[in-house]
Amino acid sequence: MENILYKSTRDSQKIVTASQAILKGLSDDGGLFVPVKLPKLDRSIKELSGMGYKEIAYEVMKLFFSDFTQEELKNCIDNAYDSKFDTEEIVPIASADGAFYLELYHGATIAFKDMALSILPHLMTTAAKKNNIKNEIVILTATSGDTGKAALAGFADVKGTRIIVYYPKGGVSFIQERQMVTQKGDNTMVVGIKGNFDDCQTGVKNIFGDKELAKELDAKGFQFSSANSINIGRLVPQVVYYVYAYAKLVARGELKEGEKMNVVVPTGNFGNILAAYFAKNMGIPIAKLICASNENKVLFDFFETGIYDRNREFMLTNSPSMDILISSNLERLIYMIAGEDSQKDVSLMQQLNKEGRYEITPDMKEKLADFVGGYATQEETCRTIKEMFDKTGYVLDTHTAVASKVYSDYVNKTKDTTKTVIASTASPFKFTTSVMEAIEGKKSDEPDFELVDRLSRISGMKVPKAIEEIRTAPTRHDHIYEKENMVDAVREFLALS
Ligand SMILES: *Cc1c(COP(=O)(O)O)cnc(C)c1O
Repeated sequence: MENILYKSTRDSQKIVTASQAILKGLSDDGGLFVPVKLPKLDRSIKELSGMGYKEIAYEVMKLFFSDFTQEELKNCIDNAYDSKFDTEEIVPIASADGAFYLELYHGATIAFKDMALSILPHLMTTAAKKNNIKNEIVILTATSGDTGKAALAGFADVKGTRIIVYYPKGGVSFIQERQMVTQKGDNTMVVGIKGNFDDCQTGVKNIFGDKELAKELDAKGFQFSSANSINIGRLVPQVVYYVYAYAKLVARGELKEGEKMNVVVPTGNFGNILAAYFAKNMGIPIAKLICASNENKVLFDFFETGIYDRNREFMLTNSPSMDILISSNLERLIYMIAGEDSQKDVSLMQQLNKEGRYEITPDMKEKLADFVGGYATQEETCRTIKEMFDKTGYVLDTHTAVASKVYSDYVNKTKDTTKTVIASTASPFKFTTSVMEAIEGKKSDEPDFELVDRLSRISGMKVPKAIEEIRTAPTRHDHIYEKENMVDAVREFLALS
């Protein structure tokens, strides 16, 4: 098998192994790690269609994480995709109103982030061993709501690691916040920030970039890493389920071998849809990659105009995990369409940093032909949830509803009949308040858990364990920091001076 190495989007000369890229998270130059060459699947669709989730996970990950031994990788996979998931299939595929819904939310924290974050801690501790790292790894994570809890659940009580999660206070759902602040594990810390998600993400990037702090940490036996989707150890496990979806639909006779499918992804940081793009480049017959945004529609505008412009009002919407104006993972795509020219990438990212905007060249824009952008307003999101429920009984969460609406707009406009998979990114229970408001047509001032029980009754779905757990769990974290002082949380938690 080919040895796949990684380089930084901002310096093509900086070459590291997969395990080193996972350990570092972000390159020292601020760039993101990308494979020097995207591997091709070395199994046929026929072979893949006879495999289960874990087997496909191995077939995909072995290509990207080529410095892990077979035993190491299989161990990581076995430890990740086990009874933490409430279904043996790991990722069921539902069919509703003319599309397939790839249900990525059956893990411990009922959002798709579990797909990658249940394996990342294992990849990371294995990578630390391989590279003789003696320091304790300190994971810093900015969250728009779902990454935080999934990362906490993944890293809680994992030996040799600690984790600090920063979330925008007031910018996440009631259930998301409860899930995080009740987190157990002495190696965990949860911090509310007076700011929005972009503030949290920028703050974390600044802490990573602080060389003095890194030295101070090293002297005390610590080093940072990231559990955000900038980490290649997050991105690669997400490629798996697009390969799985295709293979399963072929196995079920829904797709003929080689027949193309479209993929619709409700997008925020551009990680999930980039994983689909990787799957396509590895050989999965994907036609269109449809990028669905909420009212924070920077990506929609980008695909329309070739201009990325974050100079606009940040909207708090009913799909909070997509309330993002700086989509970090887009940098990987920019680098690829710039012909892997790190100078071009650096110059665009500097413009983004200084002016909040950049424009790509017509050449680069041409390479985006497989991407289609769309967006849905909050009102449209609610209407989509209600119409789907009334028509089919299937319940969408608010994020998946954004994708569903964008998909139906796309079909109306193009009459494209290609079979389509919609990434279903969260359980409706995670966003019960908004989902029930949509279904019942009015806001309710009842306690959230009343609504949870009513959603369960009307949908016939059992209340997920992740929700039952937080009904009565005590609050364990109540730190609130100004966005300028995020580093103080690190100092406090690690008892630095
Ligand atoms: C994180 C998240 C998204 C956005 O995914 P990205 O990889 O950031 O584009 C969409 N829906 C839900 C429920 C999420 O948690």
